[in-house]
Amino acid sequence: MSQRLKKEIPFIVKTSLLFCALSAAFSVAGILLPEKAALHNPVGGLNLHEIGGHLFWGLVAGAAFMSARYAIVTGFFAVLIDSDHAIALFHVDALARMSHSFAFGAIAIAVLMSVFGKRDYRLGAAAFAGLLSHLSFDAFSGGDSSFPLFTPFYNHAIMFPSADWVYFEIAAVAVAGVASLIYSRRVLEKEKTAKA
Ligand SMILES: [Zn+2]
Repeated sequence: MSQRLKKEIPFIVKTSLLFCALSAAFSVAGILLPEKAALHNPVGGLNLHEIGGHLFWGLVAGAAFMSARYAIVTGFFAVLIDSDHAIALFHVDALARMSHSFAFGAIAIAVLMSVFGKRDYRLGAAAFAGLLSHLSFDAFSGGDSSFPLFTPFYNHAIMFPSADWVYFEIAAVAVAGVASLIYSRRVLEKEKTAKA
């Protein structure tokens, strides 16, 4: 492994752990919603195909950052969002897949950026791109593509046709691409002012 990539490991591990914990914690909010119901046991859903698929989809979207650090983080976020299934281990009624929602995306952006750097909008974008690419692979793999996308405002799972995977992934690439563009413009401006 290159020295440069090695230096990124602590950042990647820390942001991924926080994202994973946030998703598991957010799933607890599903207990409070009136639309809660019995949950399926999540253990059966964890397999290599799922994990590999989510990682790959996340890496593809994250590639738009043109930065190994943010591409890898996006890939990990796309896998770890499924820790919102953790609530099912407690055998309580809850709304399933809480983190498969825009609300979780917003919370993840706010928390990650306040912990790791308020100006690190590429990290915020990675959280949102990770979410979108996760939904994309869930739809693509055809297992279960219904998400409570607008919770806590609309607490019912919305079913997406499998073909919609492409829109979710395009949106994920766009989020990463726009953040990357803004970043490179800022770098250019800084260089200009440094020279002036
Ligand atoms: Zn999922």
